[in-house]
Amino acid sequence: MSNPILPPPLPPTPTAPPLEKQTTVGNYFVSNYPPFSFWKPEFAPQLAAALDRVPGVDGAPVPPLGVYLHIPFCRKRCHFCYFKVYTDKDSAAIRNYLDATLQEFAAYATRPAIAGRKPNFIYFGGGTPSYLSVDQLRFLTDGMKALLPWDEAEEVAFEAEPGTLTDHKLKAIRDLGVTRLSLGVENFNDHILEINGRAHHSKEITRAYGYARELNFPQINIDLIAGMVEETEDNWRDCVRQTIAMAPDSVTIYEMEVPYNTTIYRQMKAEGKLVAPVADWETKRHWVDYAFTEMERAGYTISSAYTAIKNPDKTKFIYRDRLWAGADLLSLGVASFGHIGGTHYQNHHEFDPYLAKIKAGELPVYRALTPTAEERYIREFILQMKLGHVSRAYFTQKFGADPATHFATPLRTLHDWGFLTVDGDIIRLNREGLLQVDRLLPEFFLPEHKNVRYA
Ligand code: SF4
Repeated sequence: MSNPILPPPLPPTPTAPPLEKQTTVGNYFVSNYPPFSFWKPEFAPQLAAALDRVPGVDGAPVPPLGVYLHIPFCRKRCHFCYFKVYTDKDSAAIRNYLDATLQEFAAYATRPAIAGRKPNFIYFGGGTPSYLSVDQLRFLTDGMKALLPWDEAEEVAFEAEPGTLTDHKLKAIRDLGVTRLSLGVENFNDHILEINGRAHHSKEITRAYGYARELNFPQINIDLIAGMVEETEDNWRDCVRQTIAMAPDSVTIYEMEVPYNTTIYRQMKAEGKLVAPVADWETKRHWVDYAFTEMERAGYTISSAYTAIKNPDKTKFIYRDRLWAGADLLSLGVASFGHIGGTHYQNHHEFDPYLAKIKAGELPVYRALTPTAEERYIREFILQMKLGHVSRAYFTQKFGADPATHFATPLRTLHDWGFLTVDGDIIRLNREGLLQVDRLLPEFFLPEHKNVRYA
């Protein structure tokens, strides 16, 4: 495809949006579209209708199916955490919860939208999936496999907190069929881990990583956060150095944000502060840029705004790539987010109402939304922009309109700000654009979805 739309790239211009320099409260990360604040309890019946439709009967291709299971337990609550997590549940409460998630799974497994399909990918997220004991993990995964066999799954991903990983548990996790172990390292400095409320220590990272390597997990990912409370340039450089020395298959880096329901925000509010006690956005972008540059020097490839991978031919992230290409995601557990047959949904975000719904034999859905065709196009396009490049032909074929024309105005805006080029089939963000992609994506939102609370 030629490039009739845009002239060659320009350097960033003064017309670029005023950059919010300091880290103030609110969500930065764009994980879905339309914004969650538009998903409503009154739309929950739309999921029931979606579950009654057999995929593919209308001739449309059947998307891959993923299963997400939310484990909402952690040893401690990190001060930056905005997830629904519990630190006070005993083993009886955890067993009740696992029973409930399996009942929830069983209720979906026989519905026309799901029955007979095999998951292409499975994701255990949280919370801390590795908080579960070996017996609890076996009970849960045996139950899941009995409902929808995993024999066609390309990836089974599992999030782990290093301090919860005994040798025995790591071996059991490997034996369950986990292919991608993601270690929530975040930082290597004990003082920074401690002051940010993390439960683990640096020694536990090295130990868990070493044993996971011996067990030959096909993929080990290390998660880092740029800009934790008291982080310094020197500390960040040391984290990058230690990460590269460990040579994980992939590294994921998030820039610290401070959403409303975090301990950090509560403290800011109590002290009447508007600015969070973490690095400003420019510094965090500089740190991620430094990490990406060092990782490229060490042979890694940058595969998204957040990810570096050692060997792109061997290491994939199926969960991310399928989700960003419109897969169905059957999500189970408290507060989890899913997408089936064209309808977004989220479960009840409190433990007791979630369990009560399951006990009553109902799906524990709290709110839902069925995006329009235009919203589906925007969603998939902005999610794939996080990869740093999208194919015009892919979107033209799937949505019937060339994105270079369909999104001409926001593309022109990003181009004029010096972040984007169109090169034949490929719409590409440069490094500077990629490092701040989440604040650029709202340019593609429909007017009614701009400047509103995201979550
Ligand atoms: S381990 Fe993860 S989910 Fe648990 S409290 Fe910390 S950030 Fe939140």
